[in-house]
Amino acid sequence: ANFSAIYDDHRHSRTSGIITVLSDVTEDEKVEQERREFVSNVSHELRTPLTTLRSYLEALTDGAWKDPVIAPKFLEVIQNETERMIRMVNSLLQLSRMDSKEHTLHREDIDFTPFFHNIIDRFEMNVKDEKINFNRQIPNKSFHVWIDKDRLTQVLDNIISNAVKYSPDGGTITLKIERHIRQIVVSVRDEGIGIEYDKLDKIFDRFYRVDKARTRQLGGTGLGLAITRELVEAHYGRIWANSKEGKGTTIYFTLPLINHKRRREI
Ligand code: ADP
Repeated sequence: ANFSAIYDDHRHSRTSGIITVLSDVTEDEKVEQERREFVSNVSHELRTPLTTLRSYLEALTDGAWKDPVIAPKFLEVIQNETERMIRMVNSLLQLSRMDSKEHTLHREDIDFTPFFHNIIDRFEMNVKDEKINFNRQIPNKSFHVWIDKDRLTQVLDNIISNAVKYSPDGGTITLKIERHIRQIVVSVRDEGIGIEYDKLDKIFDRFYRVDKARTRQLGGTGLGLAITRELVEAHYGRIWANSKEGKGTTIYFTLPLINHKRRREI
């Protein structure tokens, strides 16, 4: 009986050893495959604006430069595509810094309420012509969170500018802070085109765009929400989306509250 117990034990540990090895290999393979996919995506995403630049430049060289109506239009396309490419490369650099953990957060104790109001004020000033209403559902209270202000500004800029981008004229964007026990839930709701249910999770993936041609026209790179998710997670928060096609989209994220009471006790 003793022998069989040892044998079983041995067999068991051998088996679990093999399982560990196998799962290590597949994990490695997965990372490698993701890396390959990423490189291929980057190349593809950069080739598209570059071929656009080439054809517009060719047209200009072939004589379009003499046409006072066409030439400025072509130059504008060239300028927009170049700007988009610069944004894309900057985003890629940021993602690569975050991947290599080089990226450090400069966190401080911030009251989220005035911080959020300031960011919304800036959007309200900048999109005056687009007839978008900003509806704030923010309690008149303090919510202390431990955040890197610049990074959280980037998070909110990405989410709110998407809401603006996909909103119809006259649409309302609702910005909310809800208090839960140990965290706040921040949300940004728009009345725009919405996102199909099965695509909701994918919008946080690198380079994912629901409608490539359309977002490209709007100057999108498909990297904004990928960076946003990494930044929220670096702050120990979660991010997700909810949407009804044709009715609008809500992006939610959480941030842990600083527990001042417990801190004093410690
Ligand atoms: P982009 O630079 O293309 O906007 P993002 O990473 O910010 O990239 O967003 C990814 C995709 O998610 C967008 O291309 C768009 O298809 C979809 N999306 C994001 N926010 C919204 C929104 N508020 N309403 C509808 N679609 C959205």
